[in-house]
Amino acid sequence: MKNPPRGRLFFANPGPTNIPDSILRAMQHATVDFMSEDFLEIYDACTEGLKRVLGTKQHLFYYTGSGHAAWEASLVNLFSAGDKLLIVESGYFSDHWAKMAQGLGLATEQVRADWRRSVDLAAVRAALAADTAHSIKGMCVVHNETATGATLPLAEFRKALDETGHPALFLVDTISSLGSIEFRMDDWGIDCAVGGSQKGLMLTTGLSFTGASEKAMAAHKASTLPKHYFNWTLMLERRHKSFIGTVPISFFYGLKEALRLIEEETLPGVWARHHRLAEATRRAVRHWSGNNGPALFTTNPARLSDSVTAVMMPEGHDAEAVRRTAYERFRVSLGGGLGPLGGKVFRIGHLGDLNEPMILGTLAAVEMSLAANSVPHAAGGINEAMRFLAETQPAAKAA
Ligand code: PLP
Repeated sequence: MKNPPRGRLFFANPGPTNIPDSILRAMQHATVDFMSEDFLEIYDACTEGLKRVLGTKQHLFYYTGSGHAAWEASLVNLFSAGDKLLIVESGYFSDHWAKMAQGLGLATEQVRADWRRSVDLAAVRAALAADTAHSIKGMCVVHNETATGATLPLAEFRKALDETGHPALFLVDTISSLGSIEFRMDDWGIDCAVGGSQKGLMLTTGLSFTGASEKAMAAHKASTLPKHYFNWTLMLERRHKSFIGTVPISFFYGLKEALRLIEEETLPGVWARHHRLAEATRRAVRHWSGNNGPALFTTNPARLSDSVTAVMMPEGHDAEAVRRTAYERFRVSLGGGLGPLGGKVFRIGHLGDLNEPMILGTLAAVEMSLAANSVPHAAGGINEAMRFLAETQPAAKAA
């Protein structure tokens, strides 16, 4: 953009997200030997800290690559050609995990869902119960579907596996939930948790990881899909128990600071802050939806996401025009609609390093952009968000 308005860009995409200054500074670190004792001390502390955020005492493997790298690692380490996966449809990201599985030579069965309503657990239970031969080797669930703004109840999916006595591995994409929405890998019996650096962890893009259970490690030993850079067995032979190549040290200086910030706030405090800012956003959108205005994309109230809100435009109005105005005139970057939702939906990211004035600034810019594009809406959504934030307190920090 030529001559952008002055002032800081308000980054309200649902990932990557804002990076706190202290993390930016921590990542600006001179090169050190990744085998040096000084670095290994930081590295090991990061691994322990990230395991606490994941809620696991089991295994953790890192990759230099975005979330897609960890998706691929989860599949090639656990399965063999022709193995069948049950993919729970949530939206664009579950579709793309399925496409990747197919590209790697795996068979997929999808539990279909209405993207707005979000999947019916009875359909998941039925698919598992129908598989009496246990030909399904893994069930893949995206915890928080970033394209639609829906969060899936992972404990219920675990229950579906247990109640049907199905032995499939439970794989979960926690890319836009970890560090924002409650996630408990071991408590919820998750065998492989896929995560990335650039959302709730408030880091730059390019570090991803998988938590792996003991059951996953046993399946890994039998898996024959080709792998090398992602191979967990090769990783375990190395001092870092990860990384077949050079260790990207700057990520770990950043991760150390991110973990310090998260643990200072406490995980329940982080989850509560996200819930409150998400609720303020939803109140604004619900208000706008009057007068045939834009509405919450997710229509299932139990599934509304605390890290991203997808907003469905009224028929005949272009979400991209609203996004363009927000960006060019008000310097607020919003997320666009993905796949079939292109032009129909815009997304407000409210995760990571975010506080009340930041979300209010974003909501004000959205409301002004709706008006500037003559999109019908009930004016004053921003007032609803302000009222809610004024009347509620940020969560008290847990001891
Ligand atoms: N899964 C989810 C839920 C995501 O939100 C994203 C990216 O936004 C991905 C997977 C893909 O991750 P990446 O873009 O880091 O490769």
